[in-house]
Amino acid sequence: MAYETSDGVYLAVEEVEGYGLLAQQDLRQLRTTERVDEGRQEEKRNPLDFVLWKLAKPGEPTWPSPWGDGRPGWHTECVAMSLDLLGDGFDLHTGGLDLKFPHHENERAHAVVLGRPFARHWMHHAFVVDTAGEKMSKSLGNFTSLTDLLERVDHRAYRLLLLQAHYRSPVLVDTDSVGVIERSLGTLDRLARRAIEAGLDPEAPLDRPALDPWVAAMEDDLNTVRAMALVFDWVRQANAALDAGQADEAARLVRLVRGDRRRRPRPRGHGRGGRPCRPRPGHRPRQGQGGQGLGSRRPPARRAGVARLDGRGHAPGHPPPPLIQAGAARHVTVR
Ligand SMILES: [Zn+2]
Repeated sequence: MAYETSDGVYLAVEEVEGYGLLAQQDLRQLRTTERVDEGRQEEKRNPLDFVLWKLAKPGEPTWPSPWGDGRPGWHTECVAMSLDLLGDGFDLHTGGLDLKFPHHENERAHAVVLGRPFARHWMHHAFVVDTAGEKMSKSLGNFTSLTDLLERVDHRAYRLLLLQAHYRSPVLVDTDSVGVIERSLGTLDRLARRAIEAGLDPEAPLDRPALDPWVAAMEDDLNTVRAMALVFDWVRQANAALDAGQADEAARLVRLVRGDRRRRPRPRGHGRGGRPCRPRPGHRPRQGQGGQGLGSRRPPARRAGVARLDGRGHAPGHPPPPLIQAGAARHVTVR
């Protein structure tokens, strides 16, 4: 599976089960359109093969290895760190859309050939963009730092702004978009004040069936856009109920807007501040056991709806990725 060339050790990706799973694209296309990995192209068996160990170059830091002094490849570093710090089968691997291929694809390939369960869920988010739709980046200098933004803007507005866009869609952050969101925030604050003035019962029982569409939206690949639309619908209805003097109905709706604020127990395996503890050697958390990582706060079925690909099907509304055979992707979720 791995082979040596004059400048390092490479992984033959065609021999990796399910290679292309994350990219969800035809590998022949990737071959021509994507920048392939570092290394001497002419000695590679396949342009997509990537370097596992790079032999020493003058002036670079090096470590000894059976193949000669050198350093690990870019993807190798990430896999080694995540498996060491988070353990096998950790819950969630996130990153920007631009890291999906080749970086994350190749991280996954490492774990597959090592026989180690890797990330159970992958979430790739779109970028924060400027008015021209350009990704905010240091190199372009077209960015506002979060610290600067939060000096001018209510931090709740920034959170709401992110929730009003799906995580896989670009988020436009400029004066106009922030202004719109601050007005939405004002709507929420006004309802909160009205509820207090009207003496509504803050402990009104939560109407769980009415909350179901909200939960369904969140479980559909974290559709926060739809979830927030429901919240603002409840706000509108609550104001109408207050106008009509229907205190019980208003209290029910305000309780829906507030949501379920009970604290969930801290999952086992977490240290202070929610940071994952170092896993015990050989310890493999089982699903629903409360192992490590974010998703463990809820039993698996309730975990926020990251599209799941486990050989049994695919998320509704999302076509199956073309390259993947049923069963090839057990325990791996992609989006
Ligand atoms: Zn990485």
